[in-house]
Parts: sequence; structure tokens; C-alpha cells
Amino acid sequence: MKKQYASYQQTLTFLEKSMAENPHLIQLRRIGETWEHRPIVLVTISLDVEYADHKPALLYTGTVHAREWIGNELAIKFIDYVINNYRFNPKLKQALTRNTLYMVPCLNPDGFEYSRNHFSFWRKNRRKNHDGSYGVDLNRNFPVRFKHNSDTSLNTYAGPAAFSEPESCAIRDFVLAHKNITLALDYHSQGNVFFPAHKFNHETELDGTDLNILCANMNREIFKVTGRKYGIHRGKPPANLIHGSGREYYYSLGILAVVVEVGSRNIPDYLINMSQSVDENIPAVLHALTEAISYSELAPKRPEQFSIVDVDSTSTELSWHYDHNLEVNFEIYRSQQLKSACCDETLLAITRGLSFNDVQLKSGQNYYYNIRAVDRVNNLKSPFSPELKVKTQLARDDFSRALFPTNQEVGYVSQYNTEKNREHFGHNSLFVGVNKRRGICYGVIVFDLNNIPDDAIIKLANFSLYPMNRVNAKVESFGEWSVSLLDFNDVNDITCFEQINKALPMQTLGQAVTSEQLTQGIWSEWRFNITERLLLKKAIKSGQILLRVEGPRALPLGADSQVMQFDIGYGKFGAGIHYRPNLHLIYSRTPQEIKLSPTALNTITIDKLVENKLRSGFDKQGEIIYGQMAFTLESLPAADRTVITNAYLIMRNMSALSTQKDIRFTIELAELKDIDFKSVKEREKKEFIGYEVSNQQLQEKKTHHFIFDSYCRQNLEILHKENQPCYLIIRATASSTEYDEFVSWCGEDDKHLPELVIEYIERRKNPIKAATNLSTMLENGMTKLMWDNPSDADFVGNVVVRNRFHPPKSPIDGVKLYGGPDNFTYDNFANANVEKYYSVFSYDDVPNYSEPISIYFAAKDGLPAIEQEYESQAESEDID
Ligand SMILES: [Zn+2]
Repeated sequence: MKKQYASYQQTLTFLEKSMAENPHLIQLRRIGETWEHRPIVLVTISLDVEYADHKPALLYTGTVHAREWIGNELAIKFIDYVINNYRFNPKLKQALTRNTLYMVPCLNPDGFEYSRNHFSFWRKNRRKNHDGSYGVDLNRNFPVRFKHNSDTSLNTYAGPAAFSEPESCAIRDFVLAHKNITLALDYHSQGNVFFPAHKFNHETELDGTDLNILCANMNREIFKVTGRKYGIHRGKPPANLIHGSGREYYYSLGILAVVVEVGSRNIPDYLINMSQSVDENIPAVLHALTEAISYSELAPKRPEQFSIVDVDSTSTELSWHYDHNLEVNFEIYRSQQLKSACCDETLLAITRGLSFNDVQLKSGQNYYYNIRAVDRVNNLKSPFSPELKVKTQLARDDFSRALFPTNQEVGYVSQYNTEKNREHFGHNSLFVGVNKRRGICYGVIVFDLNNIPDDAIIKLANFSLYPMNRVNAKVESFGEWSVSLLDFNDVNDITCFEQINKALPMQTLGQAVTSEQLTQGIWSEWRFNITERLLLKKAIKSGQILLRVEGPRALPLGADSQVMQFDIGYGKFGAGIHYRPNLHLIYSRTPQEIKLSPTALNTITIDKLVENKLRSGFDKQGEIIYGQMAFTLESLPAADRTVITNAYLIMRNMSALSTQKDIRFTIELAELKDIDFKSVKEREKKEFIGYEVSNQQLQEKKTHHFIFDSYCRQNLEILHKENQPCYLIIRATASSTEYDEFVSWCGEDDKHLPELVIEYIERRKNPIKAATNLSTMLENGMTKLMWDNPSDADFVGNVVVRNRFHPPKSPIDGVKLYGGPDNFTYDNFANANVEKYYSVFSYDDVPNYSEPISIYFAAKDGLPAIEQEYESQAESEDID
């Protein structure tokens, strides 16, 4: 076939030929006729195609919008691919054996031909409207939230009524007659983004995870071909809720439906851009086809009550229910990025049990878990449980902070129209890149670091930005975006383009993000490396850090814009604090040090106890001579806020053993009731502190450091908490018995006493108590939550989380509604008709999070759901 766009007639000819040559695989049927009497055709592809309607099916629709030619092209190329590969590609063969693909390459043939022959930017069909104008937007002509508009000249004119058009009726009749359809993909251009269906409220749907994972897994196939990452964008923010679209109609029938917006132009350079779009989407469509059966009656049921049992700083215990047949395995996936694929790279375990303990996690980080059941016999997979989100606790010496800029300290500066730059702060999105109207644009963000202690040791620093609507921004495939640290000495006015433009970066963070990978609906993240963390540490001393976000600075011929928009989370167009640029830090602090002298020194032999002498070795009978020391820990700060990070004993020896045999000296942490020989020798608990010194080392030098291992450091903390002294025993160990050999340690004459050195940081160890008396009420149709704050002096604030499926057990396990010191909040977007759970976690300044206090919210029938339509920055009618 010629490598150029096919006409509708060429498409029909190709489909007829394909059916004639592959009658067992392909069937063509006419499902309707347009105003201009063109046939609307649907291709059924399955092995064997005569049984196609009995198998679970994927519905593919293309070119609903006339100028969005990708739908028709991709369908032709996909069918061609199937014909040439199904015999020997096992994945394709199995997909077509178990599933059926229904393809309508072009649902709007009249509009498509009008776009090809008369006006390439045509979008609607070719109905002759009552006023003589032409066209109805077919993707506004479906009944879900159908919205009347009388202006027939609008590109989004919805028609006189839902299903007023032959094209929308044709697909409706087909879908209603084919209950085997479980998935629907509607191909549009442009934007390189998936728009999964939604239900017009801001509650999580049971199958919301399925939709996201379907898109993420398709995305992975796309990435394998071109390295491109599509956005995955669902619901808020700031999506316009589309009225009367096909996607929501299919979803309302129980079909998982997704709009795929492909490419960066409607009708791009065929050989370069369109072929990329087609090539990358062939394996993506194939993946979706393999999943049709997972959402059918044939598939196992999804696991239920997937939830968190326990979390600490390195592990998470998960559990779930499964009351159906138990002939299944469970696949568990883990990722640190939202909207990740569930594939081999993220498959963590396959288990038959109903719980799983995940280990080797990192302190204070977010983990996302997914689970599905797999039939042990036929390998059919279930839908996914709602995703579980877990934040691990902080390690015992870690602190964390999420920093946000104030509204005056986040904005963008553009090259032209510079007097407007001041207005770009606090109530607009960040425009970053270059276009003809604004010139070069930089994002500028200041973070206040005054709340980070000067002695912070930064272990992790992540800067995150949320890319907004890319359909509108029309990002093409060139350029890259990066974040630089600027020196405040170069910039005294952050709203001044000249200063920001001229400033030489001290450092550019991590890797630049290329245009293919900068996708809306998925956070862009820059992780500071060690050099950058050192610069950050310097900035902490000066109290703030200045970042410049930059994109390409020049446009190639023919391009007029290459700008990415990032949410700033402020103002009319921002989507709130959850989408604000942020700097997430995990840090420890420089430890303080305390040196302790022993309160007692003893040498214990079989027949006597010698005070104020410290010896260890063997007596004439070969019995052990023990040296014993006692230290009190009273001078440390309060035990509940002292984290011992390091401890070691400094010992100096006055002599060494004369033998050349391998004799080693160890220190033990000893629980001693009496200090007589028998109790010392026969004591049950012996804890080596984990470090020993050989006799040879005693001969070579005089000062030795016995370093406590982590277990003994913890034991020190327990002794501290219990107000107990710390007893240490030093003794010689040898493979054979020695006689009359001992070492004298300094301190016998009050000189060079042994020293116990303890390094510690002051940090609250245990969470404060939970809030109490959590209750809900409805106030003006809005859900209000109230509680009593804990009375602890260390109380800083609460996090309130909503989860539709189970009581949240982690502060990120659901939709975060509030963070702060108040004792109430509103759930602005909740639908009171939907049952759900709320949890409140109280935290201190570490933060340690308390156990949650949770409440079940029963559905209140008959209350209107609160709906909010977002106004997007510059509404593009092009969004599906
Ligand atoms: Zn479209």
C-alpha cells in the first residue's frame, strides 16, 4: 500500500480485499449509512471469526472527528499487521483466539471526506442544519450529560437531540446488540494522552484502577517503540467534563472506555509523524485486545478489601479477601510512580495466600500496590483491586518536609510584554518554553528553607511539577525541559525576565526531560544528586532556594510554539495544593556527641572482685578474668526523644599478651544482677557489641574503638528508657585455653579512663496519640468532618484522607482532603450518595503519623451530588 493517507473509498477497498483473502479472520459489515449515503462499516477480527460474537471484545472507533485522520489510518495498519503476523506471533494468535476486535476505522465518513477534499480543519459530520449550516459534533451527540446548544456554527454543536445523527445511532445499535464488548478505545488526535472515562463526580470508581493500568500498560508498549510517554489524565484537574461523548456512553453501559489522543497535529507529516503514531499504537491496541477477556464473565473475580495491615520504615504488610473459588494465584505489583504499568518489571510476587509482606523498602517514600487474581488452570486474569497507596514510616533518624512556594514566589517570566510578568505570579500556570507571542518563557520558583535546620543532612530531595493540558500546549517532538539552581546574588527581582534570563545556573538538576516524556497528568520529577544536595545544604543557611524551569529557546521553521504548561496550584486556574510545585526533602541531622566516663570499674576473677582495676585474660588455672565497667546514661536528653545514631567505647591498653596465638578481646553488653564470677560466667544473655580487637592489634597500638552494632545501639536506648545503667564486660576469647595471661587496661590509676561515646540526635520517636471524636455531618449539601485534636504538646497537624473502599491506613491511601492544625474540614467534592471511609492522622514535627482514627460514611440517598466544572486555562475544543 502506498505510504500516504487513505481515502474512505481506498479504506473500503482494502477492507473488502482483506475479508476476501482472510474469510476465517475478518468479516465486514455495514452498521449504518451517513447523511451523504456513505456506508458506515465495522470490521470484526477474530479466530475463527464466525464465533466472534461469543467472545469478549474490544471496540475500536476512529475518526469520529473528521480532521483526526489517525483513527482511520491506525485501523488500516493494524488490520494489515494482524493479517501478516497472526499465524506465527503467539501473543497475537492467543489474543485473537480468546478475544474479538470490532473496528470502525472511520465513524464519520462524510466529515472525513470533506476534511480530505475541501477543508482540512473540519471536525463535525455533514448534517444539513435547519439554518443551512452544516455539521454536528458526533462526540457531543451521545446522551450522557447531553448539552443543548443552539449555535449550529459551533465546532462542538451537539445536534438537535442525543442520537439525532445516523453515525451515533449506528454505533449505539451495534454496542447495544453486542454485550460481549468489555473495552472501548476511541482514537482521536492530538496530544499524546489517554483520557479514561469518568462518571462526573470526584469519587474514585471501583474500575478506576483498571482504566489507569490499561492506559499505563498501553503506554509501555508505546514507549518500547518510540520512547514516547503519553499522559494519563482522568477527571480533575482541570479536565473539562465533556458533554454527550461516546466514551461516557460506553462507560455508562459498563464498558471500560478510553479516548486516545495521538500525535501533536491532526494531519502531520505522514512519513515521519503519522508513521510514528501508527507504529507505536499497533502494539498498544494489541495489548488492549489481550485484556478484553479480563473484564468479561469468564475472568476470575477481582480480590476484595485490598488493604494495609501494617507499615514501618522498611516493610509493608498487605492483605486481601477472596471469597470466590480459590483456584487462583495473586499477582502483586509495586511501583514508586503513579500510573505505572503492571508488567514483568513491576511484578513483585505471585502468591496463593491472602497476605503479603513487602520488604526492603526505603524510609518515608511512597509505594503504589496493585493486585489481580489469575486462574491457575487457564491463566485468565481478573480485574485489578483499587490501587493501594502506602507511605513508609521514616527511619528512626530521618525527618521529612514537603515544601511549597508561596503564591508570590511561583510564576513565569516571558521575554515579550515584560510589564505583565509580575501578574504571572500566583494566579496563572507556568508557561515554559518559547512561542511567537510570548518569546522565551521561564518558570521561576522560590522555596523558603527557614524551617529546615542548618545542620540538616539531606538524604533525598525531589522537585516535582505537574504538567497541564498538553492538547492545548501542542508540544511537538523537539526540545527538552530542565530545572536549574540559580544564585540569589544574580537576581533581586524574580519577576524580571532579564535577570532570570541572564543568571548563570549554579547547577542543572539531574536529567533534562525530553518533549516525548513530558506528559500531562503525570508528575515530572527531578531528583537532586549529591552535588545538588550539597548546594541545597548551603542554601538552607541562606534560607531560600531559587529554581528556574526552562524549555527550548528557539523554534524551528514552521513551528510557532513549543510551550509546556505546569500547574502552580494557585488561583482560578490552579487545581489546588495537591498540584502545586513542591520540593520533598528527607533529611537527618548532624548528631550531637556525649562522652561518658565509667561509674565503676572491676576485675572479676573466680575467687575475688578487684575494684577500680580493669583487666581481662586468663588466670593460672585457665579461668577467664573479666573486666567490667558501668556507665549511666542520665546525662542524655529524655529517652523518648533521643535517637542514638552511633556509640563506641574507647579503650586504651597498658599491656598486651606475650603469646602470638590468636586471642581476641570482645565487649559484651551485659545485664548483671550481681557482679560475682558465677553470675558473670553463667549469665544467659550475651550481646557482643559486634566489634572485637585482636591481641596483635593491642601490640601494635594503644587506643581502640569498640563500635556498637545497631542491635546494641537499640539496647542502649532501652536501658536509657528504663533508667538502667549500661554494664559492659571485656573479655578475651581464644580457640584454646590459655594460662596466666592478661591485659591491663588504662583507668587503673584514674588515668585514661575508658570512654563511652554516644552520638545522638534529638527527635521524637513515637507518634502522638490519634485525634478523637471524629464525626461527619452535612452542611449545605457538603460533607463536614469534625474531630478533637490530640492534646500533646508536640501536635503539629492532621492529615484527612478519603477512601471509597476501606478505611485509609496510610496518610496517602486515598484522596487527601486536608493537612493542617484545624479540627474540621469540608469534603468539597464528595458525593454524599456514595458510601466511603475517612481517616484522620495526627502528626508531630518529624513527622511521625499517629494511628488513624477512621469513620464510615453511609450513603445518603437522594442528595444531589456536588459537581464542579473546571474552567481550563484556554479551553481547547480539540479535547476529544
Ligand atoms: Zn477528537
